[in-house]
Amino acid sequence: MADAAVKELQEEIKRLAEEKNAVILAHYYQRPEVQEVAHFVGDSLELARRAAETDASVIVFCGVRFMCETAKIVSPSKKVLHPNPESGCPMADMVKPEDVKRLREQHPDAEFVAYVNTTAEVKALVDLCVTSANAPKLIKKLPAKKVVFLPDRALGSWIAKQVPEKEFVLWQGFCPPHYEFTYKELLKLKERYPDAPVAAHPECHPKVLEMADFVGSTSQILRYATSVKAPRVIVVTEVGLKYTLQKVNPNKEYVFPESMNYCGSVYCCSMKGITLEHVYETLKEEKNEVKLDEELIKKAERPLRRMLELS
Ligand code: SF4
Repeated sequence: MADAAVKELQEEIKRLAEEKNAVILAHYYQRPEVQEVAHFVGDSLELARRAAETDASVIVFCGVRFMCETAKIVSPSKKVLHPNPESGCPMADMVKPEDVKRLREQHPDAEFVAYVNTTAEVKALVDLCVTSANAPKLIKKLPAKKVVFLPDRALGSWIAKQVPEKEFVLWQGFCPPHYEFTYKELLKLKERYPDAPVAAHPECHPKVLEMADFVGSTSQILRYATSVKAPRVIVVTEVGLKYTLQKVNPNKEYVFPESMNYCGSVYCCSMKGITLEHVYETLKEEKNEVKLDEELIKKAERPLRRMLELS
C-alpha cells in the first residue's frame, strides 16, 4: 500500500475508534503500521493491565488469540475484537487441558504455573499465570516447593536457574521463532559486532541465553537496549520490537538477526498475521468478537488476577 493510502487508513481507524469509544491495544511484535494506530503498545503483562483498567466499551486487540482471550477474561463486560481470528500462538497450542489434568494426577503436591501464553482452557486449570517479565519474582513467592511450569521449556529452565530453591517439572513446549534461532547464528553476529552487548528473550534456546549479556522480557529488553552505554546492541527477539526501540532512542543501532525477515526465524508469522486492513474492517463492522463461556472466564480469571495482584 502506498504511504498516502496507509496514512488515510490510519486516520480512518483513529476516527472510528473515537466514534465507537474503542481502545486499540497492540503488542510490540505487531507490524509498525499497526502499532502506529494503537492507543497503547506493550508486552503481554502491560497489555493485560491496560485491558483490565480501560473505560472503553470496545477493545481491539492486535495480538495473538491467547492475548485476546486474556483481555476478555480480565474485562468480561467489554466487547473484545480480534482483527484476525486465525492468528494463534503455536506455543500456546502445545499444551492441552488433558495434559494439565494428567500432570495434576502425577504431581499432586505441586503448584501449577502457566505462562500467559496459554489458552483460556489451560489457564482455568492452573494456580498462577506469569509473564516473562514477572515469572521468577512471583514463583519465589509460592508456598509449594514443587512447581509444574508450562508450556515453555526455555523460559521454564531460565526461571529454574533463578529460583534454585524450588523443584521444577517443565512441559516441553517452545516458541518456534525464538527457540529456533541458534547460538551459531549469534556467534556470527558477535564476530561481526564484537563490541555490541547481546540482549535476548528468555524464550530463546538456553545456549543463546548463555551467550547473552542481558536476558529479559520484551519490555525489559526495551529498557536495557535503549539505555545501555554501548552505541550498538544485538537484540535477539521478534523483529517488531525494532520499531519501538528506534522510536524510544533513535541514537543507537539495534542489530537483529538478518534471517528474521522470513518465517522460520525470529519473526512471528502469527503476530504479523494482523494487517491494517484487518484492524479497519474489524473495527468498522465490530466483527470477530472474542466469546468465552462465563464459567470458563471465572475459572481462568483466578490465576490471572493472582498474577496482577502479586506483580
Ligand atoms: S513470538 Fe512465539 S510465543 Fe509469541 S506469539 Fe509468536 S510463537 Fe507465540
